[in-house]
Amino acid sequence: MKKKYKLKSSVYYFIGIIIILIIGINFGIKKYQEYQYQKTNEYKLTSMGYTLEQAQTLMNTLTDDDISYILTLRFDEQILNLLKEKYFIKDKFKEYYDYYKENKKKELKDIVAIINTKTNNEYYSLDLNTDMDKGYAILVNKYYKLDSSYEPDDLISVKMDYSWGEYGSVKVRQIVMDKFLDMWNAAHEDGIYLMISSAYRSYSEQTTVYENYKKDYGENYANKIAALPGYSEHQTGLSIDIFSKTNSNRNTFSESVAAQWLVDNAYKYGFILRYPSDKVNLTGYQFESWHYRYVGEDIAEYIHNNDITFEEYYAYFLDK
Ligand SMILES: [Zn+2]
Repeated sequence: MKKKYKLKSSVYYFIGIIIILIIGINFGIKKYQEYQYQKTNEYKLTSMGYTLEQAQTLMNTLTDDDISYILTLRFDEQILNLLKEKYFIKDKFKEYYDYYKENKKKELKDIVAIINTKTNNEYYSLDLNTDMDKGYAILVNKYYKLDSSYEPDDLISVKMDYSWGEYGSVKVRQIVMDKFLDMWNAAHEDGIYLMISSAYRSYSEQTTVYENYKKDYGENYANKIAALPGYSEHQTGLSIDIFSKTNSNRNTFSESVAAQWLVDNAYKYGFILRYPSDKVNLTGYQFESWHYRYVGEDIAEYIHNNDITFEEYYAYFLDK
């Protein structure tokens, strides 16, 4: 009887110990998990004021590096709005935010556009080389330059029916000629006679143009009206200055029927109005109602329908 009781009590004792152990281990695990969770970005972001959903959006979109950067800042809902911008590029997050900090009055849409087009940098300050692998979609502007020796290998002379100057003085790449003729015919059916006044310009010709302006008007003004050699899109052979037979005046062409026809139709043939009046700050060029650039039908259509510059398109879709 006594022995039996003794056995029973030691079993209870043993079970008791097990229960205490289980509770203790559970408690320990929970504490450890809590401690581990506090080290996560999710915990740190929600402690800053972001909702769980917002924290997850940030973590799913941005790199650990960017999250570490956000953790050094104060809670800012604009960060989440930035991520929602149509042309937001992940890799540029820090650049956007740093620029935003200095320019809080600007709209986020504009901040994204400025950073994407690199126009927060001074003109000619980046010295980037044009990526020639982009084919007809190469980018040449005040940041991207062509090699001084670059000359397209398929240049052809534009017939006098379609260009001013002397025969042979206006040259374009083959594709530009083909597409221009399609466009010329369509315009002609609408009673418009298109004429090319200037197209391919070699590096040395651009040097002459620029140096002459510099001599006559000084460097500041020369920079405003002419590109530095290597930085002119005319060296690509893909750019054409188009006027009509009845109007070749730079000051009034924009108001002509032909100019409006080009705005409405050029994209169908792969050409874009390269320097629109409302995008001067993004292209770095004053409005040029005559300057068209061949980029191909698909790109031209997108740019036309979405009202963006080639720079913005390039940054978002091609610069990879
Ligand atoms: Zn031009």
